This record gives sequence, structure tokens and C-alpha cells, in this order.
Amino acid sequence: MTKILVTSFALAFFLFQPLSAIAQKVQPTESAMSRFLRYIKIDTQSAEEAGKWPSTEKQLVLAKLLEGELKALGVQKVRISKEGIVYGMVAGNLADNNAVPTIGFIAHMDTSPAVSGTNVNAIIHKNYQGGDIVLPNDKTQVITVAQNPALKELIGDDIITADGTTLLGSDDKSGIAEIMTMIEILKLNPSIKHGNIAIAFTPDEEVGGPMEVFDIEGWGAKYAYTIDGGELGEISDETWTAKTATITFRGKSTHPGYAKDILVNSSFAAADFLSRFNDSKVPRPETTEKRVGFVHPYNSSLDIETSVVRVLLRNFDMSGVDEQEKMIRAMLDETKKKFPHVGAEMEVKLGYLNMKEELKNHPQLVEYAKQATELAGVTPKMKPIRGGTDGSRLTARGLPTPNLFTGGHNFHGKLEWNSRKGLEKSTEMLVNLVQIWAERK
Ligand SMILES: [Zn+2]
Repeated sequence: MTKILVTSFALAFFLFQPLSAIAQKVQPTESAMSRFLRYIKIDTQSAEEAGKWPSTEKQLVLAKLLEGELKALGVQKVRISKEGIVYGMVAGNLADNNAVPTIGFIAHMDTSPAVSGTNVNAIIHKNYQGGDIVLPNDKTQVITVAQNPALKELIGDDIITADGTTLLGSDDKSGIAEIMTMIEILKLNPSIKHGNIAIAFTPDEEVGGPMEVFDIEGWGAKYAYTIDGGELGEISDETWTAKTATITFRGKSTHPGYAKDILVNSSFAAADFLSRFNDSKVPRPETTEKRVGFVHPYNSSLDIETSVVRVLLRNFDMSGVDEQEKMIRAMLDETKKKFPHVGAEMEVKLGYLNMKEELKNHPQLVEYAKQATELAGVTPKMKPIRGGTDGSRLTARGLPTPNLFTGGHNFHGKLEWNSRKGLEKSTEMLVNLVQIWAERK
């Protein structure tokens, strides 16, 4: 009894030790901020519909740089796949590295095709004293405190923005800089105990990149995290369940001069169907937020013989997506009644599943991430992602992969920003996380 008491007391004492604070002694030779400022200078914008991976050759410039830096840090098994994925393995420093699971960290190298990432000119707003931030090279671009309440917590910090003409590239070069800095901290501080850590930097995340050929087995992680989230503390284990519906309308074309009672114009049926979405009862991206899903007719082509409408179906629950599918079919039935001479068929494909379906079987992933966050002095916030991630696709393939914060804000736009604290606290969280995995298994 006494022995058990002593043991649990010792354990409790041990659990409440700030791990990184006691273990991290030697500072990295290059800070997360300095690495970040180097990586964002490299233009890695990806492209839609390129028909190849990587979608743009310029992403390989960063891939090769990271390959060299990983090798210099002593990372093993470093290689770049033909799709441009950088893989590596940080060897554990435990007596038996096989006794703990290999944890993977993933960040993506590309930036969004939506906004230019050429000649990113980072502006460091040193010792931020509050107030809106006007970007110097386009004064209409203003980061307001009203829309960025997180700024209020960063008085005295250094805020990093672009100059108003490009995005910053915090999404996701923050993730890369934080992972690289973590690797260096681990290398310089062998007293920080950790198991094997698999590292991957991926191209083309923003354009639905090559996750179906991601070498899960060769990489070696049992569980993984994407480091691709937003503000400090944000942890996501939920993404959309996603389907895409393609509705094809078929008419009959003929010479318009002799078309009486022959021509059937499929455009009118497609337009009628489309207009049914413009109804307050139909949830759309522009009318929904938080946990409410939507249907989104995002692309259409109209022609006499063949018109096509493509619709995204998004919900956090499969049952919700099924309901949306029923709703669209009912709308299509109405259109068919109105246009009996137009043929119409609907095809629905599953894109990806809400990763929660799988992650709920592995609660320790999020639990340890929350502990690592708290140890860094940051309050964890669970936030469902109204989208998909590389992690949702890996989770669907059997590698459980939630998403963790990078400190970044306003992704995919000219108002993107991060801060020194954002980069440093995220790095600290990663260092804590590998130790927790080594101790709790
Ligand atoms: Zn991202």
C-alpha cells in the first residue's frame, strides 16, 4: 500500500514537471523564426490541374534544400520521392526505440494557387504595441484587431506579415520551420528522450496532392500529426466527410434554322437545376459556419447537347452527407418534371471521410497533443476543420493523423501572419510531444 502510494505520488510529481523546461538546455543554432524567414523566400506555389506531381517544379527547390538540411542535422533515410515528397527518420535515443511507437510529423511545402508567393517580402513588426497593421506596399491591406483578436495576446511580440502584395507562406512553412527547429533541439539535447520520429514534407497539399502514393509503410510512422493548423493551441481531429456530385443533362442539337420541334437545349434544364440552390433553405458555403455542412455548386458548363453541374457535398457526419444527396436528387426530380425531353443523370463520388471516424479509436493522439500544448503554456482549443487535410486522407488510408497548430493566421491571403511567439510555442509543443510519447507510449 505504502509502496503504491509513494509510486503514484512520484508519478504525479513527474507528470507535473514542465518537461521541456527541465530538459531543454542548449538553444538551437538557428531559431524557428530565422528558418521560417529563409523558407518563405522560396516560391513554392502549386498549380491546379497540372496532371503531375509535383504540380510545379519550383517546389523541388525547397525540397532539395530541406533534404540537405535534414542530412546535416543527422536525420537518417532522407530521400525525395519522384512526386517530390521529402522523407526522413530521426533516430530515437531510448534504450529500446521499438518499445515506443514511431511518431510522424508532416508539413507541406507548397503555397496556395490563390495568391502569388513570388518575392515574398516579410515585414517584421517588432515589439508590437497593439492596433491594426497596415501592410506597407498596399495600404488597402489591413490586418485589423477586430478580425484578428489573437493579436491582443501578442503585445510586445514580433508579428510577421507580407508587404501587402503576396501571401506570407506561413501555411505551411511555419510547420516546416517548427519541425526543423525541433529536430535541431533534439540533436543538441540528448537528455530529451524520444523514440523514432518520422519526418515528411509534402508538395501540393493545396491542390489535393499525392497522398494516395504517400509511402506509409516505408516511412514507418504508426501515428502521425500534420503541423498545418492555425492559431496557438488549435488542435483538429475532425474534417468534413466529402462527396462530389456530377449531374449531366443531355439535350439534342441541330441546325438552328431547321430546329423547330427537334432541338432540345440542355442548358435550360441545367440553369433551372442550378437556380434551385439559390434558396434560403439550401445550406451553402456563403450561408453556413461552424458545424453546419453545405452543398456547393462550384462548377458548371452549359451547352445544347450536354450540360454539366458539379456540386460539393460537405458535412461532419456521413448521415448529413446522405441527407444532402437526397435533397439534391429531389431538386433534380423537380427539374426533370419541368424538362421531360432532357435526359439527366447524377453520379456521386466519395472524396474523403471525417477523420474522427478513425481517430476516436486512438484518443491518445489528441490527449498527448493537448498535454504538450499545456506544457508549453498554451491553452488547447479543439477546432473542426471545414475542409480536408493531408491527414484526413492518410487517416482514411490507415495512418491516424490529426492536425496541430503552427501559430499562423489568415491562410491563403495577403493578410496572412504569424509571430515569433507563434513559431516558438509551436516548436516547444512539438518537443514536449515527442517526450510525452516516449514516456506514456
Ligand atoms: Zn496548409
